[in-house]
Amino acid sequence: MVTIAVTAEGTDEPRVAVSPETVKKLVGLGAKVKVETGAGLRSRFSDAMLKAQGAEIAPSAAEARRDADILLKVRRPAPEEVKDLKPGSLVVAMLDPYGDRAGLEALAATNAALFSMELMPRITRAQSMDVLSSQANLAGYKAVVDAAALFEQAMPMMMTAAGTVPAAKVFIMGAGVAGLQAIATARRLGAQVTATDVRPAAKEQVASLGAKFIAVEDEEFRQAQTAAGYAKPMSVEYQEKQAALIASHIKNQDIVVTTALIPGRPAPRLISRPMVESMKPGAIIVDLAAERGGNCELTQPGRTIEHNGVRIFGPLNLAGAVAVNASSLYAKNLLAFLGILIDKDKKTLDIDWDDEIVKGTLIAKDGKLVHPSLQPQGAAS
Ligand code: NAD
Repeated sequence: MVTIAVTAEGTDEPRVAVSPETVKKLVGLGAKVKVETGAGLRSRFSDAMLKAQGAEIAPSAAEARRDADILLKVRRPAPEEVKDLKPGSLVVAMLDPYGDRAGLEALAATNAALFSMELMPRITRAQSMDVLSSQANLAGYKAVVDAAALFEQAMPMMMTAAGTVPAAKVFIMGAGVAGLQAIATARRLGAQVTATDVRPAAKEQVASLGAKFIAVEDEEFRQAQTAAGYAKPMSVEYQEKQAALIASHIKNQDIVVTTALIPGRPAPRLISRPMVESMKPGAIIVDLAAERGGNCELTQPGRTIEHNGVRIFGPLNLAGAVAVNASSLYAKNLLAFLGILIDKDKKTLDIDWDDEIVKGTLIAKDGKLVHPSLQPQGAAS
């Protein structure tokens, strides 16, 4: 039998790595699921709800981990949480593989096999395991809803006997998973939406959601997408042309949501201080790239600041602000991933270390960091 432990996250992480639905399915796979008491509370999953689906509620994190083969977490656990696991145990979490290298090495030194869900290959078979997509989708939604709540004007156009209220102008920068959901949400609220990206594939997706696409569409733009579907860092010349275009567009916008990222690199700087200063008082910027340094020069990660009447919101965990949904989807992503590690007939761990998904996400084994992107010459891609 495979024993799976789920423990509570730190105070700044409301999500949890299991849901009542996934407990039921994991138990159905023949696993024992031990959950630390209270671990699901901030996602509104009570001990009773988890127990009703077959979880064993443990009185402490250490008790939950006792005899576990797999530890499921949302964030990277401390080495102290992992070192009492059995030899050869697995840790599956969003391990932030390119952050705090010393901490990662200390975690690897526990000898656990570490799987980093952020590195899930973007192949069809792994779509149901793609945590970046499931969480970014919710973050994109919440960014627009939060911006609408902060905004002191209406979002849709309203024609009333007392006059017309204009539609809010919303500009989405970066039309990946989060950006596309932000566009869809802003459109549903009745805003007039524009969006930009450096990947040509984004153009049609933006248009299909009813937003206007705005970008410097030169030769470099036509080549900007990697084989993995991500953006490449753009040349200085492109960045200058892009900045000129954004500068002329942004000054008329009411709400700007930025989501632009390049894997393994700091977020590209797209909004400069003068651009912010050109915006109208009351305008709002939500910088979803805050965790990776921010797309806006003035963003302060984790804070909301005001500059010349423009409020800049730098959330660090917007998916966590819709924790019920975020935990449910994250737990489903983990369930799908565990499905390829567990032999359903023998009800034991059976890992094919050559599987593309296993190799793509495994970052440490037998005390060593093994992922190619974490080797000294490795590219974080
Ligand atoms: P991401 O989070 O890495 O980046 C967000 C967006 O920022 C991307 O669209 C990127 O092109 C854009 N960006 C980067 N630099 C920029 C700049 N200078 N200016 C403007 N925009 C910039 O990306 P993501 O949301 O993870 O999605 C990337 C792509 O992968 C999308 O096309 C998405 O649909 C695709 N995807 C595929 C799968 C799959 O096949 N399984 C799963 C998820 C996403």
